[in-house]
Amino acid sequence: MTPKIARFLASQAPATPCLVVDIDRVAENFRALADAMPLARIYYAVKANPAMPVLERLVGLDSSFDAASFEEIEMCLAAGAPAGRISYGNTIKKISAIQRAHAAGVDMFAFDSAEELGKLAVHAPGARVYCRILVENAGAEWPLSRKFGTSVGQARALMVRAAELGLDPYGLSFHVGSQQTGTDAYETAIGKVAMLFTDLRDSGVDIRMINLGGGFPVRYRDEVPGIDRFADAIMHAMTSHFGNNLPEILVEPGRFIVGDAGVVSAEVVLVSRREPADPVRWVYLDIGRFGGLAETEGESIKYRFQTPHDGGATGPVAIAGPTCDGADILYERSNYRLPEALACGDRVELLAAGAYVTTYASQRFNGFAPLAEHYI
Ligand SMILES: *Cc1c(COP(=O)(O)O)cnc(C)c1O
Repeated sequence: MTPKIARFLASQAPATPCLVVDIDRVAENFRALADAMPLARIYYAVKANPAMPVLERLVGLDSSFDAASFEEIEMCLAAGAPAGRISYGNTIKKISAIQRAHAAGVDMFAFDSAEELGKLAVHAPGARVYCRILVENAGAEWPLSRKFGTSVGQARALMVRAAELGLDPYGLSFHVGSQQTGTDAYETAIGKVAMLFTDLRDSGVDIRMINLGGGFPVRYRDEVPGIDRFADAIMHAMTSHFGNNLPEILVEPGRFIVGDAGVVSAEVVLVSRREPADPVRWVYLDIGRFGGLAETEGESIKYRFQTPHDGGATGPVAIAGPTCDGADILYERSNYRLPEALACGDRVELLAAGAYVTTYASQRFNGFAPLAEHYI
């Protein structure tokens, strides 16, 4: 946690559960990525945390934005982003949303099917379009494959078709899966799209851009490679395939920009044992799966906990949320340990919880209010 967040929690003791985000850390993360990949244009994936203070700070840093819906496009515009800096990156868009985005001046759209391409040709005539390719998501703790992307062969035909339909066949994209912990996923994916890119260019298609997606990891319970390792692997792969004739490079980081800028502060509601002799204690917090911690589904994202008793003896725990739903368990199989001294009423912090939390919170399930948010 950043010193600013620590001071805020100590001095304000905000009601729990809440998310506290250090906006300066958001800016530092943006700059770290920009420094590591100076040739890439950064499109912040708004869905990771669409709060206005985050968007405004990124607008001030000349970020571009990857939006998943017309509503997210409106948020970017309200934060001061020019329409020309916004990409409508969802391959699944309502016709009305395409029309509204096009009317608002958004000029860049993703697709991965002939059907969506047809919608874009009619409702966003002349727009720049890019085709999403299905790539391996191995190594990602929050995979995004199966639902999105098409084959190289199909993409080739669709990009040719895009030009025939009067659209601008701008580029290709992929996403190696979120919280991707291996640099080789990018290298493999770049090799796959590079061949198609060159093939299309040689066939006379005016293709200019490769969008490497997001996926850059943040440190949760386990260490992850630093952003420089990803940048080195990516640029090495790009130059080995394209030499000095590099295409425009886009990246769409979400988690990396906001993840470690935020902390969830929660309260221990109950510590109990199923049976008196059971070694495992159940720790119930005032936030759980439905309060925003949706990425604990399948115990995928493993948050790190900070407690007032850190340094003391620990024991095995299962960790759960406060609702009356049996699915509201955060961790049961991931061998979490927390201090023996942990007790009802203690405050605990979930570190690096700035991404994919606030907007995943349910609306008053069991009567609980949506997650409170503080941007400092
Ligand atoms: C979710 C998403 C991102 C952001 O992914 P992160 O893993 O948070 O960096 C980028 N691009 C697209 C198309 C996405 O769906």
